[in-house]
Amino acid sequence: MKADDEHKLKETADAARRHWLAIRPQIERQFQALWQLAELPNMEFRSATILADWLEEHGFTVSRHVCGIPTAFTASYRHGDGPCIALLAEYDALPGTGNMAVPRREATGLPGGHACGHNHIGPANIGAAIAAAHAMAETGIDGHILVIGCPSEEIVWGKIALLREGAFDQADAILTSHGDYQNGAVSRPCQSVVSGEFVFLGESGHGGTVRRQNALDAAELAIQSVERLRAHHFPDTAAEHVMRLGGRIPNVTPDEARVWMTTRQVDFERAEAVYQFIRGISDKAATMCGVGFREQFITATRGYLANDTLAELLQRRMDEIGPPRWSDADLAWMQELVHAIRPGERMKLDRDTRLHRVGHDLYGQDDGEASWRIPLGRVNWAVPEQVPLHNWSFAALSGHTASHAGPLMASEVLTLGTLDLIQSPATVAQAKAELARRIAGRTIGEPRIGAWHTMTEAPDSFWDATWVES
Ligand SMILES: [Zn+2]
Repeated sequence: MKADDEHKLKETADAARRHWLAIRPQIERQFQALWQLAELPNMEFRSATILADWLEEHGFTVSRHVCGIPTAFTASYRHGDGPCIALLAEYDALPGTGNMAVPRREATGLPGGHACGHNHIGPANIGAAIAAAHAMAETGIDGHILVIGCPSEEIVWGKIALLREGAFDQADAILTSHGDYQNGAVSRPCQSVVSGEFVFLGESGHGGTVRRQNALDAAELAIQSVERLRAHHFPDTAAEHVMRLGGRIPNVTPDEARVWMTTRQVDFERAEAVYQFIRGISDKAATMCGVGFREQFITATRGYLANDTLAELLQRRMDEIGPPRWSDADLAWMQELVHAIRPGERMKLDRDTRLHRVGHDLYGQDDGEASWRIPLGRVNWAVPEQVPLHNWSFAALSGHTASHAGPLMASEVLTLGTLDLIQSPATVAQAKAELARRIAGRTIGEPRIGAWHTMTEAPDSFWDATWVES
């Protein structure tokens, strides 16, 4: 690297850190604002508006309702030519997990809770975009920062829809962050997820008489069959379900039952094959019970395709910035929360930071599907190991200032990482070459989603389990 280039990189990074520090209080306010709302996937109307307005105030060109998805948006800051770096915002919550920001179970009563910390991801990643844009303006460097406001991550739907509809087309590289149990950049796979709802349609009647077309019978038989066959037919693949509708009162034979089923596997094709196997079982169970069967496909996403080029770049910045700077009060509060879930246990919390390359993550992410098309870099921030993702305690932590240090670290790393990439088209090209090498001629196919009309026109019908996709 020439001395001039090095000087420019340092000048830009210094400016970026100054701008990031200046907007840090805004980032923290947005953590809290989103947490208060805790809106369900595809219902994040107010959360999306808050984030889009914030970007607009900072000079980004904002498009709302992009691709016809009501709670999706994009925001662009462009100066001259240069790589397009996409930062992903997420802002949806999980049903039934809402908890006050206190170290004990105390439900909020809201439909959703931020038990996956997406109230951090949106503001942290957008804060990075804003700080990087201000640094670009100050130092006069060329490039394009694109924020993609991605709804509905919790059902791994939003990014699949946005990919299919072209919202990612301009992006040369993608950066994002997530809460986890370690601090560090990530270059390893996570699970693929395939998801759909099976609807069983019978006939109602008085429960005291012989009623043979019982939709609940078929749903239960389907689930029993899946459990019976699991050990020998798909011991390698997780299959999880919830019963969304199973009747309303015992003396009316259920004429409709709904089972939401997901399969999970690092290997995407295997996750799809097992989903189809389960669909087949469910269809047969319906036939045995003499009831109708309808599949309402929801979505499918690949897990992450690792990218060492981006992970190494992010880790270098993370090593400079260092692990989250929790105060003693933050640590004491988290310890209290740990005591509430695991009485008597000492909190285990990663206080270090390193690159994670080995093994795979147990979770599925819909940016996984994007990572097979556009190189993706992700940084994780740690929460205490005893605080389970998707649990009330995670929602409690996400609403408390003790949670801020982690996503703030991620935000600062992404600010510098974005500018490093914008100033180094060669690194972006290297990341793309790595992606091509890892795919090695495999056909990826089109992103596959269902529930399009439901999610774009009547998302509330999805959440009350009455949706019918035409
Ligand atoms: Zn999440």
